[in-house]
Amino acid sequence: MYVTQALHRALQQTPDLPATINGDRIRTHRDIAARVARLAGALRELGVSEGDRVAIAALNSDRYHEYLLATWWRGAAVTPINTRWSPTEIGYALRDSQTAVLLVDDAFAAHVPALRAAAPTVTTVIHCGDGPTPDETLSYEELVAAAPPVPDIGRGGDALAGVFYTSGTTGRPKGVMLSHTNLITSALGTLSMRALAHPGGRFLHVAPLFHLAGLASWIAQSMVGGTHIMVPAFDPVRVLAIVEEHRATSTFLVPTMIRLLADHPRLKDHDVSSLRTVTYGAAPISEVLLNRAMQAFPEAGFTQAYGMTELAPVATLLTAGEHLTGGELLRSAGRAAPHCEVRVVTTDGRPAPAGTVGEVTVRGDNVMLGYWGRPEESAATVREGWMHTGDCGYLDEHGYLYIIDRIKDMIITGGENVYSAEVENIIAQHPAVASCAVIGVPDAQWGERVHAVIVLRPGATATAEDIRTHVKNHIADYKAPRSCEFLDALPVSGAGKVLKRELREPYWAGTD
Ligand code: ATP
Ligand code: MG
Repeated sequence: MYVTQALHRALQQTPDLPATINGDRIRTHRDIAARVARLAGALRELGVSEGDRVAIAALNSDRYHEYLLATWWRGAAVTPINTRWSPTEIGYALRDSQTAVLLVDDAFAAHVPALRAAAPTVTTVIHCGDGPTPDETLSYEELVAAAPPVPDIGRGGDALAGVFYTSGTTGRPKGVMLSHTNLITSALGTLSMRALAHPGGRFLHVAPLFHLAGLASWIAQSMVGGTHIMVPAFDPVRVLAIVEEHRATSTFLVPTMIRLLADHPRLKDHDVSSLRTVTYGAAPISEVLLNRAMQAFPEAGFTQAYGMTELAPVATLLTAGEHLTGGELLRSAGRAAPHCEVRVVTTDGRPAPAGTVGEVTVRGDNVMLGYWGRPEESAATVREGWMHTGDCGYLDEHGYLYIIDRIKDMIITGGENVYSAEVENIIAQHPAVASCAVIGVPDAQWGERVHAVIVLRPGATATAEDIRTHVKNHIADYKAPRSCEFLDALPVSGAGKVLKRELREPYWAGTD
């Protein structure tokens, strides 16, 4: 199996169907295939060989789409760069992955000198924006126009498809080596449960392609043919307008995006009824938000995916049908996807009985090849084929997985374990609260104390005592935040996840 098979099928089956919609620029599968063959030829002329890494620092676009395909057509591996990273962080990833060729768009053109300085491994920079080509960079369109087309190498299976950096939510991003088999396994398993994409549909790419959730959506949509609608950056009003204009049928959203769309005052001005499949995941979602979202998009079937970069990325799915069942199931991340096995294990490594909390582990052909350049960490994370996720949760007697928290986010206060996600779920039910994060901060008496960081809805008011009382009305007293702070917004990563380590930092600075 290799990812470019999808392009060959599209060329055979629907050559004149739009493959990409990028603003006013629409390209058919036939156009894309011709351009990809030449771009792969250009990569060959630039010295890119099978297995070499080529990087991309760009917002979602049809050129991102072509570059992914050309990389794999050439038999190389891709390193997508998180667009929120600073030049120093980008430099780290480029050096770490030993990348020689880098593609940038207009958003990164100004950073090229800094990137070159930070990453001496980079010998060639290609610029694919519509703005002027910066000095010492090659023009993407000139390369595509001039290079000789080359045949697809068809390299796949266990070959390295890319080095994909994790979101960096808990620490420095790790480069995850994924094979073609890893990526396609997850995509096919997910598609078989009617999630992500459907044949001939139009997929709206709002999640960034550098994040594996965005890339996996792209792979799934490619596998079933159809059209990719590219959105460079998430802006709720623009997203609603594009759904309406292009009659998008499916999309992937992270919970932060769902909240901004579902709560948007202009939602009702747009016809979003074409959207039939909304897949979401990558971070916990509160039950209240999920219910709001299902009401806001009544025509859409919602599927939750739980997974991680290391799992290419899907492990479990809560199907659209299960969302309609409602109740307790809405708190679950669903059941093992058809391509893998999920087990919860206790600290001694034994499978935990149903209902018992432990670490979530996953085995299947979607499990990563390993962390790039970190053999020890790879061996510690994947043991006898089982990927240890660092998430804790439990399985019920029917195999439904309930994710409770990241092990690193768990708070131990006065000897009691408090799961931040449980407290966040309750706080989110308070009518004045727009979003929140619960963290552990040092406390002389309790070791750690539960601390809530809260963003209020516009115009709403609530005090720390209101929040505390509200939580105590629902769950045990010791789980209620002993302190609260109110912010205008929570810090989020490029992948749209709340960066709790940034919230914790000022409290822990100076402690061991
Ligand atoms: P890093 O590993 O660098 O700290 P990260 O874990 O956020 O960052 P990703 O691979 O993007 O990097 O995210 C995987 C994590 O996201 C999972 O381990 C889990 O904690 C969380 N996650 C993913 N999907 C869900 C979901 N449906 N519900 C709850 N949490 C989820
Ligand atoms: Mg992780």
